Amino acid sequence: MKLRMTILGLGKEIGRSAVLIEGNNNTFLLDYGVALGEKDEPELPLSIAPSKLTALIITHAHLDHVGAAPLLYISGKVPAIMTPLTRDISEIMIEDMLKISGYYLPFEHLELKNMLENTKPLGYYKELEMGSARIQLICSGHIPGSAMVKIIMGERSILYTGDVNTIDTRLVSSADLSNLEADTLIIEGTYGDVDHPERSSIEKKFIDTIIEILENGGTILIPAFSLGRSQEVLALLAEKLPYITVYYDGMVRRITEIMLSYKDYLNKPNLLEKAVKLFEPVRGWDMRKKIWREPCVIVAPAGMLKGGPSLYYIKRLWSNRNNAIILVSFQAPGTPGRMLIEEGTFMEKGPRITARLEWFDFSSHAGFSGLLKIVKCVRNLEKVIIVHSEEPSAKYLANRIREELGVDTYIPENGQVVEI
Ligand SMILES: [Zn+2]
Ligand SMILES: [Zn+2]
Repeated sequence: MKLRMTILGLGKEIGRSAVLIEGNNNTFLLDYGVALGEKDEPELPLSIAPSKLTALIITHAHLDHVGAAPLLYISGKVPAIMTPLTRDISEIMIEDMLKISGYYLPFEHLELKNMLENTKPLGYYKELEMGSARIQLICSGHIPGSAMVKIIMGERSILYTGDVNTIDTRLVSSADLSNLEADTLIIEGTYGDVDHPERSSIEKKFIDTIIEILENGGTILIPAFSLGRSQEVLALLAEKLPYITVYYDGMVRRITEIMLSYKDYLNKPNLLEKAVKLFEPVRGWDMRKKIWREPCVIVAPAGMLKGGPSLYYIKRLWSNRNNAIILVSFQAPGTPGRMLIEEGTFMEKGPRITARLEWFDFSSHAGFSGLLKIVKCVRNLEKVIIVHSEEPSAKYLANRIREELGVDTYIPENGQVVEI
């Protein structure tokens, strides 16, 4: 029996994840996300008739994996399968996107509500039967609640990694590679050609920088994505620098509360709890206008300075050499964050910032060695499909997989159909 895989998004690109698997009278859609790049307008994946789908399976609550999902609920009632934590966080992530970009989106709150009503929460390692297929979610180590998806259809088995990380962080344990078996592996390749520097040395430099700036009376802005990176940074600060003043702004508070109601999905929930006890959320504009004037650390979205409170703070902090802007995530081309790294300014033709600028690699994606390790852990593997990757890094990873394991490896384009 052959299965058909159609790439509806994610082919040689990062963002708008969407992979369709058909065969044995079942059709599964793995993720349905939006791309939020240079433009304000979220880019949707290729379209699919919801009536064709047996189920939608969502790996995690980042918008590049779940952001387009409500589009399938305009008239449809497709079962949506995801961990309960992913369901709860997806709700507020999509609500926020509707608030900011609703004008550009072909769905509204009603469709989000329909999606949530059709969601079947599935915990890790529990097996769900759907049609003639069996589905399992496995911890992927990327953010709390994130999952790899295993689907068994007849005698065929597929493993889709979603976004995956192979190191333990404070927030989540690494992906569980202990019992993987599949004939086809669909793997993300975001960092397919590079290894991250060792996390402990990054953390040491990060902590040392913060101590130095605070001792000189400066204020530190850490632009960070509200889901994942902010909580990791707060947990790290709670562990290493519990005595300093830290504020967190934006949706971080709501998302952290949800995470803490699912402690089983966290690696060190006590550190996140400690962060919530020690550090203060920013409650409204009166507070926002005051806090940056004193030496402190402010963790605020958006992580790439595209808007949100981080943009407000940087406009007040950039011109003082005692202050620091510390970036902790990937900065996409065309974003103010990338401009800051490349040109030292966050505005088109703006002045060079005089505050100290640092960029630390706190990635929650596996690097090349981690990805290769995943491939090696999958028993009975016949085919590897690389998605969620720019072409050069996908090619490097594909070549190394072929060299080391002799397995067929493909880098499909959007719209391409691959027989698996
Ligand atoms: Zn992600
Ligand atoms: Zn992703």
